Amino acid sequence: MSDIRITNCHIHTFTAQHVPENFPFPGAKYIRNNPGVILVLAWAARSLGQEQLSEQLQRLYQFQQQGARESQQEILNDVVKHYPGDTRFVILPMPMQGIGFGSVPVSLQAQHDELARMRDAANPPGSVLPFATVDPRDPRSVRECLRALVDLKFKGLKIYPRLGFAPDHPELMQKIYPLVDRLGLPVMTHCSRGGVQGNDVCDYTGDGFTRPAAYLPVLRDFPRLRLCLAHFGGQVDWAAYVNASETRGGENWMEQIRDMISSGRYPNLWADISYTLFQFDDFAPILRLLLSGTGDPSKRLRRRVLFGSDFYMTRQEKLSERAVSIRLRDALGEVLFEQIAQINPEVWLDERDEDKTLWTGQG
Ligand SMILES: [Zn+2]
Repeated sequence: MSDIRITNCHIHTFTAQHVPENFPFPGAKYIRNNPGVILVLAWAARSLGQEQLSEQLQRLYQFQQQGARESQQEILNDVVKHYPGDTRFVILPMPMQGIGFGSVPVSLQAQHDELARMRDAANPPGSVLPFATVDPRDPRSVRECLRALVDLKFKGLKIYPRLGFAPDHPELMQKIYPLVDRLGLPVMTHCSRGGVQGNDVCDYTGDGFTRPAAYLPVLRDFPRLRLCLAHFGGQVDWAAYVNASETRGGENWMEQIRDMISSGRYPNLWADISYTLFQFDDFAPILRLLLSGTGDPSKRLRRRVLFGSDFYMTRQEKLSERAVSIRLRDALGEVLFEQIAQINPEVWLDERDEDKTLWTGQG
């Protein structure tokens, strides 16, 4: 077995304490305080012959229990077990204070501070790579993000436009991106139709903030910013691709991201496969196809896809972290897996030099 040092570019460790009381619906707090209700429902569904629903409820319970951990460190301990001992983890916080579902018990500042402590105590040293996050609509959040980047020396920026802001929001364009650019740090952003959405954000608006084309102004003004579109467009668009069916708005984000990256016009545009590849049987063959091929467009794509999982969101899925990463490694083979799980993350994090000839002369 070759020794590949994996970097998982996309995990979460935030707990129920970092989530608004009424998220995702007003009764949610009751269920968080009485998680056994989900198990009772699962039992009821099973006795009614609703096996599939029962299974889904049990996974929901699993997910709920994961978020109910006391600390971010405990959640990290749970994911670390699934990977080889030298694996590194990019940890992405969430700014959910201003999304219209009530107050969040623990502040963004405290969430960042805890990540800094986890980094400092990491075993092995260097295995925890915290990113800073921001809701650009809230000036306090902007200040806190700048603090995490400058004072806490976080390794990158995470944004989540679906919460209710455009990726070219003025505060991002004028304050946050210029600093991230100057520090030479990478950016991770949520790019799928699923996930968290602000209370006043309808699907149409959410898609508008999230679609790959929403990043064009950012790519234009900050061409050196290493921007990763998480989830490679997401499961809905991958499924639409498989079935040759329509998506909301008539655009397929997976195909768009693929084309943007392979065109060579955006040398610093990336995609990660987190969550999306947990639908392993359907999507692994497509990923292998996307990463194969001998022309320059295929070669560019091969160099711009990152391994990530989206733990612990994936506790809602059937397969475990270890099951997916081993299946992926097996399906892609050692060479391709090393490319997306070790080499590409190191380039994205600016730890490894790269031959840029694939992108020269592309304007
Ligand atoms: Zn995520």
